[in-house]
Amino acid sequence: MNDILLEAKDLTKHFPVSKGLIFSKEIGAVKAVDGINFSITRGETFGLVGESGCGKTTTAKLILKLESITSGTLNFDGRDLGTMNKLETREYRGRVQPVFQDPYSSLSPRLRVGWIIGEPLVVNKTLPRSEIKARVEEIMEVVGLQKSQFNNFPHEFSGGQRQRIAVARAITMNPSLILLDEPVSALDVSIGAQIMNLLKTIQKELGLTYFLIAHDLAVVKHMSDRIGVMYLGKIVEIADADEMDQNPVHPYTKALYSAALPSHPDTVQEEIILPGEVPSPLNPPSGCRFHPRCSIAEKVCAIEQPELKTISPGHEAACHLA
Ligand code: SF4
Repeated sequence: MNDILLEAKDLTKHFPVSKGLIFSKEIGAVKAVDGINFSITRGETFGLVGESGCGKTTTAKLILKLESITSGTLNFDGRDLGTMNKLETREYRGRVQPVFQDPYSSLSPRLRVGWIIGEPLVVNKTLPRSEIKARVEEIMEVVGLQKSQFNNFPHEFSGGQRQRIAVARAITMNPSLILLDEPVSALDVSIGAQIMNLLKTIQKELGLTYFLIAHDLAVVKHMSDRIGVMYLGKIVEIADADEMDQNPVHPYTKALYSAALPSHPDTVQEEIILPGEVPSPLNPPSGCRFHPRCSIAEKVCAIEQPELKTISPGHEAACHLA
């Protein structure tokens, strides 16, 4: 069996921008995701981090097939998402499940929690109806809910419990990959920590693979085996979580890490303040997209786009000077 569960090759998503109401004319495209490459190994957590608007949410939508790919490929378990037929897509949707940031908006307020969790089993006719309740109660206990809460409504649960419901719903179909989209950013720190621990426990028990997207580096560092850093539609660095923590090489990664709490309380680190704002993805800078904000940029940086290249085994960065 191939170790790679999900692989993106030159994955691109551009959103066309038009002008004019009657004779509308395409005037450009928002380059939300612009030729990114990454792979996720079975059983690992791959974290994608970057500021809002960097393209990580669009990447997640491409994986969930909520957006169509402009060019490039996404392979899941050796199969190209772009060539899947209806049946294969349905099977894929069972094997890749999302957990979103705001559990309340993703849970139907009128459905009892047991049926929210069990709905995928009903829709996909995975189990006979008579067995669904017992299966849901079993899953509720796995995620730390009481089976006596089966008939309660979402508003009767706290934010943390609602995220447990979302996790329960995600694992109902025995998925291979769970896409965690800012899974704890709407929760208090201590509740968020409990959810992260729950996610880690069920990952081990069920052999799950996670694709995590978050803007909070502390969450990504805590959860991930490997980390990808995204800036303006591009992945600028990929490395094992520890390697990235100790030896970030891309100037943007360095700035991002310098603004986060150090891994060890005794570590003294100086925050790198980046000048200016993130430029518009409608008209990204030439060459290296980070060059207008980079303190060590050279002439070549404004002309040539740096590709991801291997710095050391498992560590890649897209920087001319790395
Ligand atoms: Fe900075 Fe140049 Fe490296 Fe881009 S390629 S990060 S501008 S040094």
